[in-house]
Amino acid sequence: KATASRAPQAKQGIEGVGAIIAVASGKGGVGKSTTAANIALALKAQGLKVGLMDADIYGPSVPRLLGLFGKPDTVDGKRIVPHEAYGIKAMSMGFMLEEDTPVVWRGPMVISAITQLLYQVEWAPLDVMVVDMPPGTGDAQLTLAQKVPLAGAVIVSTPQDLALIDARKGIAMFQKVDVPILGIVENMSYFIAPDTGNRYDIFGNGGAEREARRIGVPFLGAVPITIALREGSDEGRPIVATQPQDPAAQIYLEIGRQI
Ligand code: ADP
Repeated sequence: KATASRAPQAKQGIEGVGAIIAVASGKGGVGKSTTAANIALALKAQGLKVGLMDADIYGPSVPRLLGLFGKPDTVDGKRIVPHEAYGIKAMSMGFMLEEDTPVVWRGPMVISAITQLLYQVEWAPLDVMVVDMPPGTGDAQLTLAQKVPLAGAVIVSTPQDLALIDARKGIAMFQKVDVPILGIVENMSYFIAPDTGNRYDIFGNGGAEREARRIGVPFLGAVPITIALREGSDEGRPIVATQPQDPAAQIYLEIGRQI
C-alpha cells in the first residue's frame, strides 16, 4: 500500500490529505487521464475518500471525464471548494476556463497554477489524492515530482515501442527524485470485437509487461480498447462508476486493489 510516510520530509504535504499518487505518461494521448479518473474511482470503490487533481494544465480532461463544468465556489474568496462527482472530489484548471480556450502559459505559470490546485483547494479530508500529471518529462513534471510528497507514480503506456521509450523516460524521472514506481498500466492493449469475440492486438501487446519485468517494477494490468470506455469518458460517465461489471472496469478495480 502506498503511504504518505514514504515521502521525504522537505516536501510540503497537503493538510488532511493522505497518500498522493501521480498518474503519468511519457507522451500524450495514451489514456493517462482516463486511467487516472478510473483508478481514482476504483480506490473510491474500496471505501477510501478520494480526490482527483488535474495537473494537466495544457490539456485538462477531468471536466469532460467526470462531466463537471463551471467555476467552483470559494470560501472567503480564497480557498477553492472542489467539485464532486461519483463520490470523489475533483479540481481542474478546466473549471476556470472555457473549454476551447487554449492555455498559453510559460512553465512558471503552470507550476504556480498547479501549486494553487494543490494547496488552495479544500481537499481535506482525503485518504488518497490521484494527480493526473501533464504528459512528458519536462520542467513542470520534474518540479511537481520534487515539490509534492508523492507516495508513488503509476505510469501509463500503450504497447508500441515509441510510447514505451517515452514511458521509460518518465520512470527514470521519478526514480531520479526518489518517487517509488507503483507500476505500469498498458492501455489500448488489445481489442475484443463485440460481434465475434475475436481478439486483435492492434498496437501489439505485452510490451509494457515486458518492460516492467525488465526494469523490475510491478505490472498493474492491461486495459483493452473499449468502445464503452471511450464513450463514457467523453460523456462524463466513467466506466468504473457507471458500468462496473464491464471487463475494462473490472481491470481498473483490480489495478486499484494493487496500489
Ligand atoms: P491522455 O491523458 O494520455 O492524453 P486520454 O485519457 O485523454 O489520454 O485518452 C485519449 C483518448 O483515448 C480519449 O478520447 C479516451 O476516451 C480514449 N481512450 C483512452 N483509453 C481508451 C481505451 N482503453 N479504449 C478506448 N478509448 C480509450
